[in-house]
This record gives sequence, structure tokens and C-alpha cells, in this order.
Amino acid sequence: MSRQPDIVIIGSGVGGATVAAGLAATGAEILILEAGGHIEDRPENRDQRAIFQRGHFRPDETWYEADGTGFNPGNYYNVGGNSKFYGAVLTRYRREDFDEMQHLDGVSPAWPIAYEELEPWYGLAETLYQVRGTLGEDPTEPVHSQPYGLKPVADEPAISKVRARLKAKGVHPFSLPLGVDIERWLAKGKTPWDAHPNSFDGKMDAETTALAAALKYQNVKLQTGSRVTRLEAGPDGRIAAVHYMRNGEAAVLRPKLVILSAGAVQSAVLLLRSANDSNPNGLANRSDQVGRNFMNHNSTAVIAMSPWFRNDSVYQKTFGFNDFYLSDGEGGPPLGNVQLLGRISGTILKGSMPAVPEWLLNRVTAHSIDFYAMSEDLPSPESRIMVDGNRIVLKWVRSNWEAHERLVAKLKQVLRSAGFPVVVSRAFDKRTPSHQCGTVRIGTDPKQAPLDVFCRAFDHQNLFVVDAGFLPTSAAVNPALTIAAQALRVADHIARKDLAA
Ligand SMILES: Cc1cc2nc3c(=O)[nH]c(=O)nc-3n(C[C@H](O)[C@H](O)[C@H](O)COP(=O)(O)OP(=O)(O)OC[C@H]3O[C@@H](n4cnc5c(N)ncnc54)[C@H](O)[C@@H]3O)c2cc1C
Repeated sequence: MSRQPDIVIIGSGVGGATVAAGLAATGAEILILEAGGHIEDRPENRDQRAIFQRGHFRPDETWYEADGTGFNPGNYYNVGGNSKFYGAVLTRYRREDFDEMQHLDGVSPAWPIAYEELEPWYGLAETLYQVRGTLGEDPTEPVHSQPYGLKPVADEPAISKVRARLKAKGVHPFSLPLGVDIERWLAKGKTPWDAHPNSFDGKMDAETTALAAALKYQNVKLQTGSRVTRLEAGPDGRIAAVHYMRNGEAAVLRPKLVILSAGAVQSAVLLLRSANDSNPNGLANRSDQVGRNFMNHNSTAVIAMSPWFRNDSVYQKTFGFNDFYLSDGEGGPPLGNVQLLGRISGTILKGSMPAVPEWLLNRVTAHSIDFYAMSEDLPSPESRIMVDGNRIVLKWVRSNWEAHERLVAKLKQVLRSAGFPVVVSRAFDKRTPSHQCGTVRIGTDPKQAPLDVFCRAFDHQNLFVVDAGFLPTSAAVNPALTIAAQALRVADHIARKDLAA
């Protein structure tokens, strides 16, 4: 590699690794700077006490709420980013999510591009992430120009029975599109995969798929332990330098193009911290929207119990339903998506209920099935990431909560009717930013958005932001596949517009 790379990508998560995969064949010299290291193959990866009770993998990091209360956010810094821990549900936004949609609590704005524009890139992303699924089961499914290349992960027998019971009640369960090779995953240990880190064990995360594909090319290099601290904008508005720390030493690179993929929170933080005299509000921030419109789904765990139901499943997370996605089913507003959680055990529950004996929790979970209810969070400029000296301040102004409560109530009703007399729920902690997005959104008007529709900063011609930050809406489905699809689209655009000359 020449002394200065053509392109520096900051972060190796879903956005960074996928844009690298899309650019690798151009021959451009690409260096990926990643703050963390590799997830190693260790017993803790499958030890639920280590993960859920001792917080073994949670980085020692504090963010702050607007009132100054500190909290540990559970945001992961390692090669592959948060996808090393994800549930690998790799689903498309619904076609309607790209249009303006009226919700109970306001409007979800239209995207600056239509679903049809992203559709081919979704297909390529599904191939890259080896998504397993089936078409035709979900009435809200958008058009796919190609079928899934791999069959869906099979229900375990106990789960298959619940799917049948729900169908009998008129619900439309569909197999979740998943990036999991289940035989490989179970060969390492009989555990679910959601929230369990992956070390090349069969979960298709950003490292094992996109990054691995990119690193097959000699012109792509990954440098771990390299935390970017500041971007330097030159007098012509171009990003002139990338400053980072490695092994306690400051270093600087001067590439032609910079692709920022540090995640929705950290990318906004980096832009805000890079303010200079010409950009006093931070870089890419003429619109004053950097850090604003922070979204994170409204989500709740719903646990349905019956003494007559025995759940002997290991991984469970194989189906979802969207019967309340576009409307509440009675002509009312959209409520959201429902999908299985990755099989709660007593050991997992103990992490949030330390006073209850683990044996008792295990007895209860042996007779329960658990779901994840997810509703759209609407963008608002008051919901935002800010920096205060060294502090990261997260002021999440939740929206659309009543719709979420209605979704949870509907789900409970359905589960009771399907033979689970006791159904309890618990909202996910407000401070868990797993589905963080929206802080550096795309748009067509530089006064309203920091990025154009190809994720290029309106203010800096050689800067792109390609991670969950670009999402203009959160929809009510898992975000990773949409990030990956757009990353491939952006890579194609860069190859044609910036590298072809
Ligand atoms: C437990 C869990 C379960 C989830 N389940 C799902 C799911 O089933 N389906 C789904 O679609 N999504 C899921 N998600 C969300 C999904 O993982 C994220 O949406 C996705 O990873 C976001 O991609 P990204 O590129 O924005 O950021 P990330 O993937 O987080 O990548 C950001 C990268 O940047 C690096 N970085 C940060 N700051 C710097 C810096 N200053 N310098 C250098 N590098 C830096 C980080 O170390 C990281 O590698 C889940 C998340 C969690 C935590």
C-alpha cells in the first residue's frame, strides 16, 4: 500500500465493512481504521452468566443523559461493530416505509429515494450476508426481484407449534430472514445467537461476510486499535486529514476520500468534535442537523406462559409477524413489528432480576415463549446527541410510545387467545441504543440534511457517512440490511463518480 491510502474508512461495522466490500474491486488503496480488536474465540462467548449477569463484553464507557445522569450504553467497539452481537435478522424496510406515513404521534417523513431505488442493492446485500428466508408469507413484504438464495432457519418443534396456533388465530407468521448457519452455530454450543458474540461460528456479521470479502483484495487493509479523534477540514472545505490514536500515539492520514462509519452516535460525535473556525457547529453541519433526529426503536419483551406449554427450544428466533405493521388491523394507525426473541433463559433473566433465584426463573422460562415488539420512533430535532467536553450526551426524546403500548396490548391479546393465559411484558431500557440511527441523515435539501442521497456530505465533497446515522426514518424493522444495501449503493456511486477519473 502506498504511504497515503486513497480512501480511509472509519469503523468496520455494517456500514464500514460493506462499503469496503463494494469498493474493493476498484483497486483503490483502502485503509479501514477500527477502534477495537477482534472478538476472540473464548468460552465467555457462549456463557450466559458472563454475558448477561457479569456484562463481560460491555465496554467500560459512560454516556450521559441530558440531566447529567451517567449510564453504560452497551455500544460495542470491535471488528464487525455491533453486528458481532446482533440477532442477525436481516430484513428489508417495507415499501411503505419509504413514503410519508401517518402515525399516532406524528408523521414519519418520506425518504428522498424510493424503495425501488434500493431494491437491487437489497438483493446484493442479502447475497453478501448469506440471508436465509422465504418469500410470500408476509402480506407487508415488498417486491423482491430475486428469491432468497438459502432456505430459512427451521423452527424447533415447540416453536413450530406456536406458529401453527397463531396461524389458526388468523395471524400471518413469516420466517424471519436470518444470517445464521444454524448447524455451524450449534456445533460450537447449544445457545441462541442474539446478544452472543460471534467468532466465525456461523453468524453472518459484518466481519465474517463483508469485511472478509473486502480483505481478499490486496488493496484493502484493516488496522485495529486505531480510534479516530478528529477530522480536519481544509480551507477548500475538503477533509484534509484524519487524526487518530494508536497504542497511545497520535497519528494522521491524508487520504483522498474519507468514509465515516463509526455508528450513528460516534459518527455524529466525531463530526461535532471536529468543529473549527470555518465550521463552528461541527463538520457537515451547515444544516444544524448533525446529532439531531436520534432514533432508537420503542421495544418491549413480551413473555407468554402456560403450564401446558413446554419450550425445549435452544434458539427460538425463527418467525415474526407484521399484522399490525401498516395499521392496527382495524383501520387505525401503524403499530409495529413482532418477532421472536432469541430464547430467554433463567440465566438471562437473572441479569435483570437479581433478587429471584435462577432455578425459579429457569422453571418459568421452560414454560414460556418470548417475543420482541418493536414500534417506529419518529425523527425529531430535539432528540439528539451532543458533546460536552469529553462527555457524550444522549437526549433521547422518545416518540410514538402510545402506538407501542397498543402494539404490546394487541400482542398480549393474540397470545392469550393462542393458549397462553399469563402474558407479561417489560420495556427495553431507554438507554440501550441497539437500533440507534438518524443522526446524520440523507436528504435533498442541504438546509435540512447533512448528507445527499449517496451519503456524501453537502459541505465536504470528499466525506461520506455510511452507517445507521444516514437513516432518515427508523421504520419498525431491524436496521442492518438497509444500512448494508445503501452502503453497496454508495460504493457503486463512489466507484463511478470519484474513482473512475
Ligand atoms: C444485541 C444487539 C442485537 C441486534 N440485533 C439486530 C438484528 O437482529 N438485526 C439488525 O438489523 N440489527 C440488529 N442490531 C443493530 C445492528 O447491529 C446495528 O444496526 C448495526 O451494527 C449498525 O451498523 P453501523 O455501521 O451503523 O455501526 P456498527 O456496526 O456499530 O459499527 C461501528 C464501528 O465503528 C467503530 N468505531 C466507533 N468509533 C470509532 C472511532 N472513533 N474510530 C474508529 N472506529 C470507531 C466501532 O468499533 C464499530 O466497529 C443489534 C444490535 C445489538 C447491539
